[in-house]
Amino acid sequence: MNWRVPLADLNYALDEEQAIRDVLWSRWLTMGAITQRFEHEFAAFLGVKHALAVSNATVALHLALLALDIGPGDEVIAPALTFVATTNAVLYTGAEVRFADICGAHDLNIAPAEIEKQITPRTRAIIVVHYGGYPCQMECIAEIASRHKLAIIEDAAHAPDASLDGTVLGTWGVAGCFSFFGNKNLSTGEGGMLITNRDDIADRVRLLRSHGMTTLTWDRHQGHASTYDVTDLGYNYRIDELRSALGRAQLGKLRAGNMRRQAITEKYWERLSDTALEFPFRNALGISAHHLFPILLPEGCDRARFMDALRAEEIQTSIHYPPIHLFTYYRNRYPAVLLPITEALAARQVTLPLYPTMSDAQIELVIAATRNALNAVSD
Ligand SMILES: *Cc1c(COP(=O)(O)O)cnc(C)c1O
Repeated sequence: MNWRVPLADLNYALDEEQAIRDVLWSRWLTMGAITQRFEHEFAAFLGVKHALAVSNATVALHLALLALDIGPGDEVIAPALTFVATTNAVLYTGAEVRFADICGAHDLNIAPAEIEKQITPRTRAIIVVHYGGYPCQMECIAEIASRHKLAIIEDAAHAPDASLDGTVLGTWGVAGCFSFFGNKNLSTGEGGMLITNRDDIADRVRLLRSHGMTTLTWDRHQGHASTYDVTDLGYNYRIDELRSALGRAQLGKLRAGNMRRQAITEKYWERLSDTALEFPFRNALGISAHHLFPILLPEGCDRARFMDALRAEEIQTSIHYPPIHLFTYYRNRYPAVLLPITEALAARQVTLPLYPTMSDAQIELVIAATRNALNAVSD
């Protein structure tokens, strides 16, 4: 479909094209010098000791769990109002998921009190997801984690360059996992990054992302090594130089892009504040990356009709998220899970378009169409 306003769009220009050309002409495509530069720049940008580039955020989560030796017999607590990758990564390890409910209409993130209810003797870790780039209640969650000796892994797929109380998201826990999927704030098509301040976690992740091999093809190409050992069961979770080059170009635009996202978010809040809509995170603490603009429709409002009315204006909307525990696979695996707040709010949630290259005219179109759609469905 040819949207007048798509849900998301790339913040790409000539720099990305040049970055790809440079890699092509360098004649080295797989993980090498450009990836190392991207990792150093990403780590320096966020002020973290280690950044390890990987194929995507899903495998970053998998590697974080593996680096903590989480596996069969263990449990990991996570929210259900997130992309299914968050908890699929847990199941890959053989561990089980314990779903915790979210805070409420003002905050769609995992609720600290609900985390506490899910802790059992088997619990090893909590995966928090900073929904839309808005920080979870990390101080409280960190206190619970330390009291119960649980690791925190941050699914920071939405939250590059977000922070809370001066601490960058992704560095509150043992590891932070970022996504560079085509619709994320920093886009490389596919791609991801795992950050950590712990040397032991970084070493383990570096090994596991490339088959458990002690040297890389790149090391051998440079003459630094001629053979290798395999010391662990690893995976091919590497990124390539083309994506890393795109990542470097995108990193340079990230902060300005997030600021533009914030300005658009504030305009939406202000210009739609007299409607029946509710705005999660309007009074959120910390600095958000403003990845998504979520709204909650009034109770009983016909969401499909609302979204159809916007589609008729060629404005794309989405739902973040169909809760994971209600998907067929998860329903069959965990039939007893009940998350009343997640279920009630997910049913009222719609995401409006938000991306840095949105024009002022496009913002006005969305605001006007949203008001019209609300009127139309409340008749
Ligand atoms: C996009 C996303 C992921 C998965 O990222 P990939 O890079 O596509 O693997 C995980 N969690 C959340 C919350 C996401 O939005």
